[in-house]
Amino acid sequence: MTGELRRLEETALEELRGVTSTEGLEGWRIAYLGRRARLTSILRSVGHLPAEQRPTAGQEANRVRLALEQAYHEKVEALRREEVSRQLREEQIDVTLPGRLVEPGYLHVITRTLRDIYAIFAEMGFQVLETPEVETDVNNFQLLNIPPFHPARDMWSTFHTTREGVLLRTHTSPGQIRAMRAYCPGPIRVILPGKCYRYEQVTARHESMFYQVEGLAVGYHVTMGDLKGVLTNFARKMFGAERKVRFRCSYFPFTEPSAEVDMDCIICQGQGCRVCDFTGWVEILGSGMVHPQVLRNGGYDPSVYSGFAFGMGPERVAMLKYCIDHVRYFYANDLRFLQQFA
Ligand SMILES: [Zn+2]
Repeated sequence: MTGELRRLEETALEELRGVTSTEGLEGWRIAYLGRRARLTSILRSVGHLPAEQRPTAGQEANRVRLALEQAYHEKVEALRREEVSRQLREEQIDVTLPGRLVEPGYLHVITRTLRDIYAIFAEMGFQVLETPEVETDVNNFQLLNIPPFHPARDMWSTFHTTREGVLLRTHTSPGQIRAMRAYCPGPIRVILPGKCYRYEQVTARHESMFYQVEGLAVGYHVTMGDLKGVLTNFARKMFGAERKVRFRCSYFPFTEPSAEVDMDCIICQGQGCRVCDFTGWVEILGSGMVHPQVLRNGGYDPSVYSGFAFGMGPERVAMLKYCIDHVRYFYANDLRFLQQFA
């Protein structure tokens, strides 16, 4: 029996040296250490041997079993190491390859236009003042000379909240009241940018949500001449030094006198085209001298102080500057449009 055990051990170890995979190793384990392996049946049969042969045969069989088990465990470890180094070899990272670039974001065209507007007015000493989008009826209308029965309210239909007298502002003009009440009786030079809301039909030139930039200057001896100078300078800084500007009489409840400001069409240089309705002029903003009652509502005595105000739509400014023909492009989140301003 010891002879058979020796031969078994040799064959097994010889075969194990040839094993190169985990599957092969498992086959080897079943063949030499499994329940049906020759070694297992030898171990089982030791008990049936004559008493004087049992110790030697038992010892030898156990030695071979331990030797095979140890060889098996060493092989498991060797295969594992080989696998790891193979992976390291095959899956190594080439650090010299260029990385995947993360595309940097960029500013929305309206944000850029707003910043251009801020920069131009900052040069003229105007600060940016942000005021709330949710306003009271009093600030949005009444203190701006638009009492509940006033026909001008038809132009400013808005979204109302569930709280009586609280609404989404229809223009940035209530910011004038807030600025005056915050700074009275000091001088004021602010621009008030922000979102406004109107409940109205969406067209090529109107959205239900849009931006406005309001401007307000209050102090001693502020005149219509200051208003014209500031707005002409703005138009030329924004659209080019050769721009011509005209002031056209208009009406707003909160300014007196009031004027619309037109600029010669930058598309056709004043010759007349579709954008300017063949007039050669495009309207860029509304303006006027602050109405005495509005000054009073803000805390200023109109016999001592005067001021001017204006309001413009940055969407309109961007449409003219970049020749965009539909206001809805701005907020439709279409990358084909937005990426043109990257
Ligand atoms: Zn034109």
